[in-house]
Amino acid sequence: MSPLEEASSIVHRIPGTTAWTLEVIDNRQISTSLRQLTLGGSLVGSVSYRSGQDIMVNVPIPGNTDRSVRRRYTIRRSDPIRDSIDLQILLDSNGPGASWARDATPGDTVEAIGPRGKIFLDPAAEWHLLIGDRCAVPNTAVMVESVDPSTPCMVAVAGFDPRIALDREMTAPVTATPTPTGSGGSEIGQSATDTALPPQVQFFDVPMSQDPELQCKLLLRALGEIPLPEGPGRVYANGELKLVAAARDQLLSIGVEPAQITTKAYWRRGLPNAERGEPEKS
Ligand SMILES: Cc1cc2nc3c(=O)[nH]c(=O)nc-3n(C[C@H](O)[C@H](O)[C@H](O)COP(=O)(O)OP(=O)(O)OC[C@H]3O[C@@H](n4cnc5c(N)ncnc54)[C@H](O)[C@@H]3O)c2cc1C
Repeated sequence: MSPLEEASSIVHRIPGTTAWTLEVIDNRQISTSLRQLTLGGSLVGSVSYRSGQDIMVNVPIPGNTDRSVRRRYTIRRSDPIRDSIDLQILLDSNGPGASWARDATPGDTVEAIGPRGKIFLDPAAEWHLLIGDRCAVPNTAVMVESVDPSTPCMVAVAGFDPRIALDREMTAPVTATPTPTGSGGSEIGQSATDTALPPQVQFFDVPMSQDPELQCKLLLRALGEIPLPEGPGRVYANGELKLVAAARDQLLSIGVEPAQITTKAYWRRGLPNAERGEPEKS
């Protein structure tokens, strides 16, 4: 099947998706290991998507001009006037996705399909808890920006700096006080500003580690210190396969119901994602 035939078969199978040919408009480093790519054209900036959805891009396999793989990235924001969307991509993996993010140059063409993804904030939830590793930073930022002001929301994501991960358009007064930043520091930039934070959002520090096993332990420890409110809330865990599974187990062990927990594996330790952009489950 040609790449074009394959794209149209995916669009046919996944309702609401479109196949685009986009152009790289901008590629900038926004922290030591995170790049922001702006892709434009084909009315992508006007696409209707829900907070937390992603697009699947075709990225080349370094050293192999005949083949490409698909990788999924959260739509960080869109701009209908500029006809563009922004993606934020972590460079930690050194796989084809990270190589593409590092090397993409304005003018490059990119085949993409989207919007994809079915995990949204539950409007009926009485509280939200967003947890994850560094890959989850863009998704968490989008989700936090869309939390209803009357619903408490807790965030424990490695490397998430609330002061600058959020869009500056946000105007709510600063009342949430993040716990002191630990040794890991933040993923998004170094120069924190006083960007206003949504008052209903509470941030919990998760120190960063390059070691996936240690990162998992650090997240679980932070998770154990979060006082969960009463009532039916929802937990959303995004990141490495074993990390999200371990977080789910820990939550179940303290009485959170299975239906309250949504996990999404973004990647898997020691294994490249499959060609369709998801980690292999077995
Ligand atoms: C729905 C969805 C949304 C996503 N959104 C984003 C997003 O907004 N931003 C983002 O950066 N990523 C996001 N991801 C993850 C992204 O799709 C890729 O998994 C990631 O970019 C790695 O791809 P790769 O081709 O570089 O590496 P791969 O070829 O998949 O892996 C190469 C090697 O690197 C390792 N590896 C992979 N990821 C990491 C990591 N984070 N840290 C350390 N080692 C790693 C693998 O275990 C493997 O050994 C998302 C994934 C999904 C499923």
